[in-house]
Amino acid sequence: MAALLVALSGFVAAMLFVIGLKRMSSPVTASHGIVLAGIGMLLAVIASFGYLADVDEAARPHLATNLGLSFLALALGGILAWRSGRKVAVTGMPQMVALYNGMGGGSAAALAAVELLRGGHTGGSLHLSVTALGALIGSISLSGSVIAWAKLDGRINKPWRFAGQRALNGLVFACALAIGVFLVMCPSVSIVWPTLFFVAALTFGVLMTLPIGGADMPVVISLYNAFTGLAVGLEGFALQNPALMIAGMVVGSAGTLLTFMMARAMNRSLANVLFSNFGESAATGDVEVAGRMTSVDPSDAAVSMRYASSVIIVPGYGLAVAQAQARLYELVKLLQAADVDVKFAIHPVAGRMPGHMNVLLAEAGVPYDLIFDMEDINDSFPATDVALVIGANDVVNPAARSDKGSPIYGMPILDVDKAHQAYVIKRGQGKGYAGVENLLFYQDNCDMVYGDAQIVLTKMVQAIKDLAA
Ligand code: NDP
Repeated sequence: MAALLVALSGFVAAMLFVIGLKRMSSPVTASHGIVLAGIGMLLAVIASFGYLADVDEAARPHLATNLGLSFLALALGGILAWRSGRKVAVTGMPQMVALYNGMGGGSAAALAAVELLRGGHTGGSLHLSVTALGALIGSISLSGSVIAWAKLDGRINKPWRFAGQRALNGLVFACALAIGVFLVMCPSVSIVWPTLFFVAALTFGVLMTLPIGGADMPVVISLYNAFTGLAVGLEGFALQNPALMIAGMVVGSAGTLLTFMMARAMNRSLANVLFSNFGESAATGDVEVAGRMTSVDPSDAAVSMRYASSVIIVPGYGLAVAQAQARLYELVKLLQAADVDVKFAIHPVAGRMPGHMNVLLAEAGVPYDLIFDMEDINDSFPATDVALVIGANDVVNPAARSDKGSPIYGMPILDVDKAHQAYVIKRGQGKGYAGVENLLFYQDNCDMVYGDAQIVLTKMVQAIKDLAA
């Protein structure tokens, strides 16, 4: 009966993950989807304790200790996650996702470590092969995600590259693989070999991520997310735990799809992302640019938008920094009341995590039918009176189209430069994430509106209200 209940809860948890993920695909149902998946996870955790009801005689004396440790781990993890989740700023979310993702990979690797140290106690060579593969992938995901976190958090700013790096990476990976095969073939060896295996796998994760350019971090994080899913799925198979298996497969396949979609959105192949050091090439952004930057007051830009017939708004990372989404929507409502057609254009890698801008706009209550993906709106820019860029930089840089020497060359951008008039709100001369000069800012049809987005938008709102008064 207990076994049936455990299996049933695993099945229900898996269904909740799948339905939750499906609901996360639309901003309208996303928060409900997250709650459903969370309930699924809770059920899976409770069901895991059901396995303890089935312990064999040899394990029974350790039951009380193991239960105590499990509850301690749950309490510690739960409290830390609850506190950090509540405290984290929206701009710090990508780093947190990278860390949590790494922990998933690390947990899968830890499960595998227990199995490997028991040296094939529990199953044949298929069992051990799957366990070792999960350990390898989970360890790479753990150490790689930590490096991705450090890069996103600005703790590692410099690329770390040297001659022969790829050969060294290949050698470390080959060592990890060879020791893994050895562990499968000769299970009951000393603790030294499993330790060397994990050291090699973890080192490979670090070495693989260090040279990857900052602008490629979205794809890398998504790739590690897929790795974590795969590692969890493999360990689920090794432990014959259906909830782990299904959760791992769902995360693994969703992460793989997202990785390829993001790479495509940046017009790159995955191999190119991983091996070509995009975003931190020899180009430093110190290029000679024709033209000059001009600036206008917030009120002038606001009046021009008020008398335009169409406005496209391009939000970027700076909007999240300024937390100006509510003020922005206030401006939009004033423009709409003056019969201006307003739309939002979202670039797939705007901000610092997939869907970052959608989350911000949803938070402010912007209706979903005003929000358009890049491929659906790009053709509209040439017929648009005003494009208002708020804290976006790389995703509107025409150098990506024309400058073969630019590190962002080839990334599709939002065609703001083709609008009749563009205004760019930013604080000063700061470069974008890729660290390159933006050719848009020097165009004749573009004016800068300098200042923190929150302050500039407040002034714009006031200027339009003054016009109506
Ligand atoms: P960028 O990082 O290119 O540019 C942001 C701009 O915002 C800066 O030029 C900055 O200029 C301005 N800014 C910062 N704070 C404020 C503020 N308070 N008020 C007004 N402006 C501000 O952002 P984009 O969204 O255009 O591009 C995203 C970049 O991040 C891409 O290169 C992408 O590859 C990368 N990335 C994306 C991830 C994702 O998953 N979406 C993850 C990791 C990286 P100034 O300092 O002068 O104000």
